[in-house]
Amino acid sequence: MTPEIEKVLIANRGEIACRIIQTVRAMGLQTVAVYSDADEHARHVAMADEAVRIGAAPVGESYLRADLILKAAKDTNTDAIHPGYGFLSENAEFAAECENAGIIFIGPTADNIRKMGLKDEAKKLMIDAGVPVVPGYLGENQDPDHLLAEAEKIGFPVLIKAVAGGGGKGMRRVDTSTEFPAALRGAKREAAGAFGNDQVLIEKFIEKPRHIEVQVFADTHGNAIHLFERDCSLQRRHQKVVEEAPAPHMTDFLRGQMGSAAVAAARAIDYRGAGTIEFIVDVANGLDGAPFYFMEMNTRLQVEHPVTEMITGEDLVEWQIRVASGEELPFDQGDLEIDGHAIEVRLYAEDPARDFLPATGRLTRFRPPLDEDFTRVETGVREGDVVSVHYDPMIAKIICWGEDRATALRHLSRALDQTEIAGLSTNLDFLRHTINHPAFAVGDVDTGFIPRHIKDLVPAPQPASDSILCLSVLGIIAAREKRAQETARASHDPWSPWAAPTNWRANLERSDTQRFIDATDEERTVTSARKDQGFILTIDGVAHHAHFHDHSEDSDLCVVIDGKRLNSAVQVTNDAVTVISGGRTHHLKRLSSRVDLEDDADGPGAIIAPMPGKILDVLVADGDEVEKDQPLLILEAMKMEHTLTAPRAGTVTGLTAKDGMQVNDGTVLAQIAD
Ligand code: ADP
Ligand code: ADP
Ligand code: MG
Repeated sequence: MTPEIEKVLIANRGEIACRIIQTVRAMGLQTVAVYSDADEHARHVAMADEAVRIGAAPVGESYLRADLILKAAKDTNTDAIHPGYGFLSENAEFAAECENAGIIFIGPTADNIRKMGLKDEAKKLMIDAGVPVVPGYLGENQDPDHLLAEAEKIGFPVLIKAVAGGGGKGMRRVDTSTEFPAALRGAKREAAGAFGNDQVLIEKFIEKPRHIEVQVFADTHGNAIHLFERDCSLQRRHQKVVEEAPAPHMTDFLRGQMGSAAVAAARAIDYRGAGTIEFIVDVANGLDGAPFYFMEMNTRLQVEHPVTEMITGEDLVEWQIRVASGEELPFDQGDLEIDGHAIEVRLYAEDPARDFLPATGRLTRFRPPLDEDFTRVETGVREGDVVSVHYDPMIAKIICWGEDRATALRHLSRALDQTEIAGLSTNLDFLRHTINHPAFAVGDVDTGFIPRHIKDLVPAPQPASDSILCLSVLGIIAAREKRAQETARASHDPWSPWAAPTNWRANLERSDTQRFIDATDEERTVTSARKDQGFILTIDGVAHHAHFHDHSEDSDLCVVIDGKRLNSAVQVTNDAVTVISGGRTHHLKRLSSRVDLEDDADGPGAIIAPMPGKILDVLVADGDEVEKDQPLLILEAMKMEHTLTAPRAGTVTGLTAKDGMQVNDGTVLAQIAD
């Protein structure tokens, strides 16, 4: 079918690289992945037919290096490059360089990208094309007093926006003249840092807006159509977290109007391929008859494209490849219909309780819902992988379809309940609370939804229940038992009492006390005593009877507590216990003095970098005597400082950490010897 394209290089990583590889392969074409040092063992590399290392972990040395990516394409005889989203996808130079090198850029023309690259230029083009834009100031004059005067003319509140902006950066809402100068400085500083361009525009701030965008597609034969809308109003820090198609309460009339405006926008720049026209809709007086304005055009495949695929039954990446190879669009506007409803959530490594601050760490457990029937899972990571400081903290997208919105929501709610994740902070519970919120159920969405309902979406921490505390203790007992068995196996002594297939009897004292700190910062104590084949676990004077029902792989536990069988996963470290039970994750800090895992694979008392970062300070030297919990090193990662402490008392040996040193996660930085 596509004679010119036989091999496609995917100039991206993570979930989008995996998703593109899937379609390229399904079309019978060859795939080439590129990767940085941090991604050598990443899922997208494993999935591709060929993979080429391009450079070090920082994006400036790998995924943003157009020259290295083009070289990889030439070295592998690649015909076409798919840029995914982010990285080089909206880089006009790169698109041009591909074409110059005789490699097809699966995306718009360099000229298309240039025209829509700056928000002010794009808005001017749209005004000329008769597409409504948010009222505001688009001028060259960046003098602060002039900008203030323009803001006053528009009328507060206003939004200052970086013209080169993206990803919600370089944006400030301003409510009064007095706040304006400081907000302007902040927006310019952020824009200069993120985009190397500090020019801003000023817009009327719309108080109750919905973000509704239209997927457009155009070929090189003069055809341009739209594939309906997506509602992306649920945002935090101006970044989307939940997206759906169609938009709740959309009318045929408004859909027709927005669709035509979007196609007009694409035609105005002679667009090629997949693009998204983002509109802001002023819903102060409801959606029916609401005014809508062009905000920007994203000249690439969008993160949330799967919801459109699920309601149209089309594969947008396949369309992109066909258009890039010169084919005509397979459909006219009239052939397309909306079938049902689809909702996507973005699962992020972040901490909702700390204003959604990005998090990093290892996914010690990651079991997304099954990708089947009504559920689609897009991810670039597997259990055991690391979410690092170098890249976007999105772990997965979970998308569900239903014949109507309520059914899609039910499927999604169940899919999130099946998702198990541990090892780092995520927004999983936040997503659950969001999609199960009564206001979301009735489609009462606008960009103020998350701030308005934040107390419901990020509820105050709850004390750990007795059953979670029991599971924690049983998890600790099981972890000790497992160690004992491993020790026995390693000792090759068939007569050792540990070598017998045990029934949870051997390695346990008759009684034991475990102390925890729960999410409310309260100390909780559980005493356990062995009784027959089980245990009596006492919490605040209340006795619970428990025994192991079955014991399967790794950290999975099947136990009976007070006559009720519970399946759960319990992960135990010396400092903490993570319990996943009933679709919820509970984290408890441990205060117990006993060390359960002292001979870890990395050796006793190893100080290991928990994530990639930079050593800011080394507080000890080889030979120093240290106390347990004494600070040893300061590591900077994700713009945050982390203190690494001694896991036990002893002597510092083998110190490799030095001030200013870059370290990878898993690097052994020092040892604490007896
Ligand atoms: P979409 O409208 O497709 O959701 P986003 O604005 O969320 O687009 O950006 C999509 C992805 O592109 C982000 O997750 C990020 O990886 C990348 N990206 C876009 N803009 C920027 C930016 N300014 N800085 C860093 N990454 C960006
Ligand atoms: P980015 O390039 O960072 O995606 P956008 O211009 O698309 O920037 O705006 C991002 C988000 O900011 C929008 O989805 C919307 O929630 C909010 N926003 C943008 N413009 C306005 C406005 N004029 N009034 C209110 N909110 C706005
Ligand atoms: Mg945008």
